[in-house]
Amino acid sequence: MRKPFIIICSLYIFFTSFVRPENLTNVSIRILTTKVITTFAFSPTSGDYLVYGDGNLLKDYDPTGIFQMNIEKDSILLKTFERTIGKFASLKFYSKEKAGEFKIKSVTPQSRVRTYDGDMEVGLTPDKAQFLIINKVSLENYIAGVVQSEAGKNISLEYYKLQAILCRTFLLSHLNRHEPEGFQLCDDVHCQAYLNKATEENIVKGVLETRGLVIVDNDLNLITSAFHSNCGGVTCNSQDVWSISTSYLKSVKDTFCIHSYNAVWQRTIPLEDWKAYLQLKHKYPVDDSSKFAGATSFSQSNGRTIYFMDRNLKIPLKIIRADFKLRSTYFSIEQIGDSIRFNGRGYGHGVGLCQEGAMRQAVLGYTYKHILNFYYKDVHLVDLSALSYFRQE
Ligand SMILES: [Zn+2]
Ligand SMILES: [Zn+2]
Repeated sequence: MRKPFIIICSLYIFFTSFVRPENLTNVSIRILTTKVITTFAFSPTSGDYLVYGDGNLLKDYDPTGIFQMNIEKDSILLKTFERTIGKFASLKFYSKEKAGEFKIKSVTPQSRVRTYDGDMEVGLTPDKAQFLIINKVSLENYIAGVVQSEAGKNISLEYYKLQAILCRTFLLSHLNRHEPEGFQLCDDVHCQAYLNKATEENIVKGVLETRGLVIVDNDLNLITSAFHSNCGGVTCNSQDVWSISTSYLKSVKDTFCIHSYNAVWQRTIPLEDWKAYLQLKHKYPVDDSSKFAGATSFSQSNGRTIYFMDRNLKIPLKIIRADFKLRSTYFSIEQIGDSIRFNGRGYGHGVGLCQEGAMRQAVLGYTYKHILNFYYKDVHLVDLSALSYFRQE
């Protein structure tokens, strides 16, 4: 029992140096980040909401109604269907009840309706050109929304537990990411996708059953909980993709994903495009046919490599992947007539947990702890709720 105690005490010291435990109960997430919104609507779907304009509680409105906001001369114009309420620099919609839920819909540009738990704060970006919409939500409700957005529906409970732990670990290690902009994380893949509240029962269950659990390495640091869709049969070392070596993001052989949806792919491009690319971007002597032959044949059949390489050329595979928008760096190249064909495996950067392999393992009956230790080396699960306990000592 001695080791867990030491881990918890050390974590307490580690976390309190930059995050107070009480801050771990709620998070502030910018929503609809990728859209340049100039008009949108808000409507409570559960619970009453108090509306504050520039810090003052507004009166004489129907708290269950629909509010519309649009930008007018550097201010936010707040309206209901019946009337204009006023112009403000900022608005807050706070739920009176703990379980408040609201719908939001961008009107300009048009987008689908999204549903969120918790509170909403509205301001404008510094250039006053678009809305800055922030969802203040309980940490675990946010995690459930992220798990549904990142993993999708109809997957096993055991997998959802695992995904919840990964997303919670990512959240806690990136709490200050957007601090200068007035929120903690955005809802885009830049941080973690958070496109709606969770609607699937198994996701909510998976989050609750792993409540507070995060992953740390041997030095008690939160790990970089990287994951990707499909590794193609072998994951990558972090230093091979991001030039940063870690003790836990090590290449592992994974046979669980090789028959999954994203296991194989192909992409064909004109030979001329390949020649032009090598010549213009990499100064390759494509007019020398004896030398160019080496650039039309490439294989990783003996294992994943980092570079596309022949006698004359060494290009990081991640550069080729980015330039041709390929699904992964795990590909071979062959010439077929006037074309070049990429025969690829997997989808994503290949570092850390392979989602489709992990999903398969969950279906086969492996526990989330087993799967976690399959993809991440020498890591530990720690319950952050212990922090509050030690804080009260
Ligand atoms: Zn972000
Ligand atoms: Zn895999």
